[in-house]
Amino acid sequence: HLQSTKTLVNSVEMPRFGLGVYKMTEREETLQAIDTALKFGYRAIDTASLYGNEAEVGEAIRYSGIPREDIFVTTKVWNKDQGYDATLRAFEVSLKKLNMDYLDLYLTHWAVPETFEETYRAIERLYDEKLIRATGVSNHHEHHLEKILAKANTVPMVNQVELHPYLQQHPLSAFCSEHQIAVTAWSPLGRGGILADPTIIEIGKEIDKTPAQVVLRWHLQNDTLVIPKSVTPGRIEENAQIFDFELTQDQMEKMATLNRNQRFGQDPDHFKFDF
Ligand code: NAD
Repeated sequence: HLQSTKTLVNSVEMPRFGLGVYKMTEREETLQAIDTALKFGYRAIDTASLYGNEAEVGEAIRYSGIPREDIFVTTKVWNKDQGYDATLRAFEVSLKKLNMDYLDLYLTHWAVPETFEETYRAIERLYDEKLIRATGVSNHHEHHLEKILAKANTVPMVNQVELHPYLQQHPLSAFCSEHQIAVTAWSPLGRGGILADPTIIEIGKEIDKTPAQVVLRWHLQNDTLVIPKSVTPGRIEENAQIFDFELTQDQMEKMATLNRNQRFGQDPDHFKFDF
């Protein structure tokens, strides 16, 4: 079911599937894409202050007429805004742009070495003040999470990381699962760059599904949440049709062999923070 959720450690229900809106910079295109997604049943939107489209996300949600509480909205604090006070200020700016009075999930975008711990402390405060329904981080390795877990009163409920068949992240997922941290895959389709893979195409042919559907279904069966991005109505619809079939164990095993630790984005330990 498209509105299938994962129960976070604090009992909040987070949709397992949503729309990512990175690189949607054209106002009309963004409004259209979100409108289309909501019509096809999407109930989660993943944005970030970096993406520059929080205002459009808020507008599209209001325009849809769907009650605010039925949509799970995530945004992220950008790297230059990290630190305790700066994060609190950045959150206010995001909330104002979205024109909402609370958010569902607020994430540290990247683990800036000097500030990520203080950033998370601010996110905990926002949670205590009931301005966000869940806390989380993005692009955090095990060693970052260990530092946060050592001090946290509220453990991060989500870690959003690059994850797809070419970068399966088994050790990190196991660590997160052990600590009841849900894992969301960013670039779940490898930015489209894995969809020509012969194994994925072959599995798709076996079950009459597209490569994107095979990959997204693989994520779900691994208990990974997904936020594929598209502005194309046909693809927005296609990506959502992953709840009425299953990959067999044999197909899951074939997918597992595709791991090659290949990143399309940056490694959190080597991110260039000097901008
Ligand atoms: P993605 O894996 O979702 O790939 C999106 C691209 O794949 C599209 O631009 C399109 O070219 C192609 N595509 C989509 N559906 C398709 C289909 N059905 N058939 C063929 N091609 C298709 O990559 P992404 O946009 O990088 O990641 C998704 C979301 O994750 C982003 O929009 C953003 O919300 C989030 N994200 C977060 C971070 C982070 O640092 N936290 C980084 C990158 C992305």
